[in-house]
Amino acid sequence: MIPDTPEDPIKGLCMWLSQIKIYMNAFEALGLNESLVNAVTDLGFETPSEIQQKAIPVLLSGTTDFIGLAQTGTGKTAAFGLPLLQLIEPGERHAQALIVCPTRELCLQITNDLEKFKKYSKNIFTEAVYGGASIMMQIRNLKKGVHIVVATPGRLIDLIERKAIDLQKVKYVVLDEADEMLNMGFRDDIDFVLKNTVNRESTWLFSATMPPEVRAISKNYMQTPKEVTVGKKNSGNANIDHQFFVVGQQNRFEALKRLIDFNPGMYGIIFTRTKIDAQEISERLAKAGYEIEALHGDLTQQQRDKVMGRFRTKSLQLLIATDVAARGIDVDGVTHVINYELPDDMEVYTHRSGRTGRAGKTGICLSICHSRETFKIKSLERMINAQFHKVDVPSGKEVCRKQFFHFMDKLMQADVSSGEYETYLPDLMEKFADVSKEEVLQRVAALEFNHFLKYYENAEDLNRNDGRGERRPQFDRADNRSGERRERSSFNRRDNGYTRLFVNLGTKDGFYKASFLQFILDESNLKKEVLGKIDMREMNSWVEIDSAEAGRMIKSIDGKQYNNRIVRMNEADGGFKRPTDEGRKRTFAPQREQRKSFR
Ligand code: AMP
Repeated sequence: MIPDTPEDPIKGLCMWLSQIKIYMNAFEALGLNESLVNAVTDLGFETPSEIQQKAIPVLLSGTTDFIGLAQTGTGKTAAFGLPLLQLIEPGERHAQALIVCPTRELCLQITNDLEKFKKYSKNIFTEAVYGGASIMMQIRNLKKGVHIVVATPGRLIDLIERKAIDLQKVKYVVLDEADEMLNMGFRDDIDFVLKNTVNRESTWLFSATMPPEVRAISKNYMQTPKEVTVGKKNSGNANIDHQFFVVGQQNRFEALKRLIDFNPGMYGIIFTRTKIDAQEISERLAKAGYEIEALHGDLTQQQRDKVMGRFRTKSLQLLIATDVAARGIDVDGVTHVINYELPDDMEVYTHRSGRTGRAGKTGICLSICHSRETFKIKSLERMINAQFHKVDVPSGKEVCRKQFFHFMDKLMQADVSSGEYETYLPDLMEKFADVSKEEVLQRVAALEFNHFLKYYENAEDLNRNDGRGERRPQFDRADNRSGERRERSSFNRRDNGYTRLFVNLGTKDGFYKASFLQFILDESNLKKEVLGKIDMREMNSWVEIDSAEAGRMIKSIDGKQYNNRIVRMNEADGGFKRPTDEGRKRTFAPQREQRKSFR
């Protein structure tokens, strides 16, 4: 409907134009052509996201360098993909644009998105090139004449060296997740590409964060780039609730299990620092009946695809991954990210947590911390400008209650409007005629929960406040000054959650580090996760141990006989007991058999 024209014709024209704009599709208003607008409409995109609104009009010019600081999940693929597709000249069958991204997963995802965006844009060809797939096949496809190459850096360089891509003709270079690429050590490859695309008309850089290395790229290779930030710089996604739990080192796994059990509808990604952890934890959880698989660098590409396929289709409830393996993973609807340990690199945290809370949805990022890691929380809060909430690991009872009600809710929500079961209803009614509702409920509960309740029956409290609140050793304070010194040193030791123990055994006793470690663990029946640094000398050793377990270790080892003498173990510094005479009078290293007999 055209509005009434006011007296002033200019004013009237303006009003009319503004009305037209309102009736225009919001993507069209950004300058996108009809084919692209129809394609995004088919995808259900109604309004452009913030990064799309800010980037698309600028990028459509084709000649402006651009920096987009945006987290994953903000719609940045369309922000650069749509203008790029509009700028491509379909008649020129060679690489006009390069999109460089850190991982194969992201590479495939971008290519996939481009396929959807160009649904109605005829004769534009894209190709994904990445390591781990046949390079010959990729070369063959490139030779057919491809307009947009989406590449991981290593494979791209390989293809350039084999002359499968002519950099002279590349007009647009997009660096996606630039900070990730630099984290992964692709600096030289990116330099190479930017140095050798001499006819580049514009460079578009997207990054979640802006570390100095990314800034350096923009300085060296971009001309007065237009910089746009979505959300706060270096900030986490506001839709994510960050929570952390403080537990003893040896309780990480149990805490993880509880967090999973406490969130029965969880569709989550667990991050570990090492491949071994990812593998071990997934095996332990799978054995316990969880739908989980690990994603790490030791898997073949085929195995990775299979795992990702299962996770995407939700046949897997949980995915456990190392940071490198998980780069670029974009799965919609992830409800939880769990950090089995906090990453060393704070920016990695942003990437991990960014796997949830995507496309406007809310998400939860849970971090299992040891008390010595809690100092990192403050830095994280500053870095992502969000508050972290310290939450208690739920007790066994709380977990059971949550599971129970989740099950009951599911029971009540079951669709009973129709189904095969109706045939059996009369018989069922008869069978249950004398059974009360309470009894049915009791039986369902017993059937579903007995083993579960048993598991959590005597579950211990896993929460650890922090090292400072723990038991302190009782010292004999003959003189006050040394007492103060001891108190301080004890405080320092406990500050990182570890207690340092002295033991009057050393290399002279025939131990080397591994055998000594085995020995103290076997004796105390503790797991190696509770130990920190081991410092072995000829006559004595010092062992760092999770403060909560120090007492147990001393109790199991101190006073025992070893090689006809008494072993002394006690807290180092404070309460230090001198080795006994027997301890000093050693004249020989024990034989293997003797050590065995001690065990
Ligand atoms: P990206 O940040 O590009 O990985 O996009 C994250 C998710 O948001 C993807 O599933 C996109 O399909 C979706 N998306 C992107 N732009 C829009 C939009 N304007 N409206 C709705 N969904 C969108």
